[in-house]
Amino acid sequence: MAETRTATEEAVGEREDTDKSPQAVEEATAEAKVTGEAKPGQRAEVSNLDIVRHYFDIAAERLRLPDDLRVVFWTPYREVTVQIPVKLSDGKVHVFSGYRIQHNGARGPYKGGIRFHPEVDVDEVRALASLMTWKTAVAGVPFGGAKGGVNCPADKLDPAENQKIARSFMDKIEKVLGPTRDIPAPDVNTNAQTMAWFMDEYGKLHGHTPAICTGKPIALEGSFGREAATGRGCVYMFREAAPHLGLSPAETTFVVQGYGNVGSWAARIMEQLGAKMVAVSDANGAIRSDAGIDPSALHDHIAGGGRITDFQGAEAIEPDDLVAVPCDVFIPAALGGMIHEGNADRMDCKVLVEGANSPTTPAADQILRDKDVYIIPDVMANAGGVVVSYFEWVQNLQHFRWDEREVNDKLGTIMRRAYREVSSRAKEEKLDLRQSAYLVGIERVVEAARIRGYV
Ligand code: NAD
Repeated sequence: MAETRTATEEAVGEREDTDKSPQAVEEATAEAKVTGEAKPGQRAEVSNLDIVRHYFDIAAERLRLPDDLRVVFWTPYREVTVQIPVKLSDGKVHVFSGYRIQHNGARGPYKGGIRFHPEVDVDEVRALASLMTWKTAVAGVPFGGAKGGVNCPADKLDPAENQKIARSFMDKIEKVLGPTRDIPAPDVNTNAQTMAWFMDEYGKLHGHTPAICTGKPIALEGSFGREAATGRGCVYMFREAAPHLGLSPAETTFVVQGYGNVGSWAARIMEQLGAKMVAVSDANGAIRSDAGIDPSALHDHIAGGGRITDFQGAEAIEPDDLVAVPCDVFIPAALGGMIHEGNADRMDCKVLVEGANSPTTPAADQILRDKDVYIIPDVMANAGGVVVSYFEWVQNLQHFRWDEREVNDKLGTIMRRAYREVSSRAKEEKLDLRQSAYLVGIERVVEAARIRGYV
């Protein structure tokens, strides 16, 4: 019988002794801190919510937004918290918390990813939801901002367990979703497969509705180019900035922090331009090679179950030392708050392209600007994902499909336009790109809310 066990059964068997509850994960993390066990790339104490609030306040001040309106545009429109009880392979029912927060819908249906991660909490989701509001406005796509998350340790669960969580979560939030209401997408530890489960679950209640979420598999009316879109968008942004910084993409070295969807696609597309990846990390460790690390081979190695630190031809380094590797472009593509007061000074790059959301704390942002690092902020740099999500939604509503070249070309047009609009405003008002992007985004949302008569 042993020979006939499925891959899922094998995986469950191997993890028999692992306690997967959020409490257990929290305890393990606390223990790791006490024992000093290496935790790849420490995060800052300042929360994602503090980070986004800081930039919102600066922009609101500059726009002379009255106090009463600041409350309207800072606080979320609707917050849903649900209980997700799921029986895992240990035979016990584990209770996870799920959140869907709709921040602002003045410019269109709410839009934003769903994250599965033990550190997800209501404040993190609030921060990410408001960032989505400004991001869709900066990109000029007709959506509002939302975000969701479940505090489950998805990377320690098997596919069947993740599927149960996804379906249960959808059952509990479907009432506030819909193709003209709120459209989720993938984020950390969720992917096209998760979106397929969401769509299927929603369809049981409402009939086949592909436009209920984006980032779906190609076989289920996903869009060509969506999976690579966020990474590709980061590269488009870098290409816009490069000539002004005297950088030639073909002679550029880069470092990637977080080798998941965003990081690995950004790396593979940078490589197509001739750029060289000299260091990279994920949740399991970090590696470095001055001769260059092949992004596609590394992606295949990790997708095949290999650990990043076992990748041939590169040396393992301390995850905390990744930021100090000299390079032209540093691409954070993991979690928020990973570039902070305690490590920003060690950074040795010319450009920071924020693939992740809120990777840089305000204190680190100041340190980097003092070091003349050119920062392309999250609110514009990683908008490629939501832009192609918009294309996917449009295609789904029309039951029509564009080819990949068309998707990528249209993505390039929108990213370049966003870059030009934000950078010209930055020049006019002598601001950095982040402050300028927040100004542009908030202004557009306020204008839409006023014209609607919402405020
Ligand atoms: P993902 O789950 O595919 O990848 C996350 C990666 O980060 C993994 O490789 C993981 O191992 C790594 N990681 C986790 N903790 C780490 C740590 N402490 N040190 C180093 N690496 C670590 O997620 P993703 O979709 O690529 O998202 C990454 C970031 O990009 C998130 O901040 C997300 O909000 C943002 N983002 C994603 C999209 C999208 O379309 N997927 C769009 C915009 C922004």
